[in-house]
Amino acid sequence: MALIVHKYGGTSMGSTERIRNVAKRVAKWARAGHQMVVVPSAMSGETNRLLGLAKELAPSRTSSAYGRELDMLAATGEQASSALLAIALQGEGMESVSYAGWQVPIKTNSAYTKARIESIDDKRVRADLAAGRVVIITGFQGIDEAGHITTLGRGGSDTSAVAVAAAMKADECLIYTDVDGVYTTDPRVVPEARRLATVSFEEMLEMASLGSKVLQIRSVEFAGKYKVPLRVLSSFTPWDIDLDEEAKSGTLITFEEDEKMEQAVVSGIAFNRDEAKISVLGVPDKPGIAYHILGAVADANIEVDVIIQNISKDGKTDFSFTVHRNDYARTVDLLKDKVLPSLGATEIEGDTKICKVSIVGIGMRSHVGIAAKMFRSLSEEGINIQMISTSEIKTSVVIDEKYMELAVRALHKAFDLDQAQA
Ligand code: ADP
Ligand code: ASP
Ligand code: MG
Repeated sequence: MALIVHKYGGTSMGSTERIRNVAKRVAKWARAGHQMVVVPSAMSGETNRLLGLAKELAPSRTSSAYGRELDMLAATGEQASSALLAIALQGEGMESVSYAGWQVPIKTNSAYTKARIESIDDKRVRADLAAGRVVIITGFQGIDEAGHITTLGRGGSDTSAVAVAAAMKADECLIYTDVDGVYTTDPRVVPEARRLATVSFEEMLEMASLGSKVLQIRSVEFAGKYKVPLRVLSSFTPWDIDLDEEAKSGTLITFEEDEKMEQAVVSGIAFNRDEAKISVLGVPDKPGIAYHILGAVADANIEVDVIIQNISKDGKTDFSFTVHRNDYARTVDLLKDKVLPSLGATEIEGDTKICKVSIVGIGMRSHVGIAAKMFRSLSEEGINIQMISTSEIKTSVVIDEKYMELAVRALHKAFDLDQAQA
């Protein structure tokens, strides 16, 4: 008997028929003798619908001003789907109980709309499991020290599931979604993308942080920190397929590097349309400038991603960086009000129509010329690179948004990702 955590995403929970299917699948696992904890997302579209209603009522306010209420609101999506799943399981003859995050409790910090899990008390859940119940725990939410409901950021149910698995030392955490694993790139953009049987934890971490939303980045961080056996697989297979076959399907996140050493140099391509570029032009080229600009941005709790500073001409330089698109207007206002006047900079230019495309692979550590190959492939397509950022196992470029699909397809081909793995 093993302790297994299943997570089902929004599409997998998208209708009563799908919820019934999830219930039948979970019941199959429970009847095979496993202790089951299930973490569902809200039904697909529900979180967007709820957040959209909030925006209708306060279009001009930044959402950070009413974060607490957004979390009260958005958390209802998972509360509903969890209760529905418990009802469906009972309909399948399984004893089942659902808990909201605060009832477990899953304790988080107070950063509304992007809270971090701090601890999970598993006493109540263990007691239910011992009594033979399937336990459903809402994804995406927790409770802070003062008793306010919090949410974990979009896609956060992945993190809830892995954190529960880590806290309970589960034997495995299975992330059921609408694709049958982690692919070389988003299969909705490149139909030739291939499923990876395994992907190293480090590559998965990069891919998640660079925009592959198949797993939320914090879920991968948790998996790495607590060595949670993690697998991504499809919820769209027939619920009654052989359990052993199902348990081996999809993509396994691995922690041993050696296994991947012989494989492709580049394992995957990620892309992200969520960023915007800001350039401060005509900045005096002297010590402390980066701190002056980015310090003010950091003080406003705005995350900066890619940064470049050009060489100076006549003692002046241009300084560019990217932020999340949601933070774009706020960053520009802040720079105009607080930074430009004291800096003697002349102008700010912004571009919200950019995207970041990245190649990822642990093989990049031991191979040279990979970035050059990326740049050549983009130049052959006539795509201009605006910014570049690299780390040991990834190279990212910022390009015009309209070339995103072309760039991803070209790179997918250039690095032979559509060919079968060796
Ligand atoms: P869920 O609702 O189950 O959490 P998400 O929509 O959050 O599902 O994540 C699954 C989606 O991630 C897929 O439908 C796919 O379009 C997208 N995706 C992006 N990059 C990848 C990738 N490399 N491999 C698989 N899916 C990817
Ligand atoms: N329902 C939340 C969202 O749509 C959390 C999740 O699905 O993981 O972002
Ligand atoms: Mg998701």
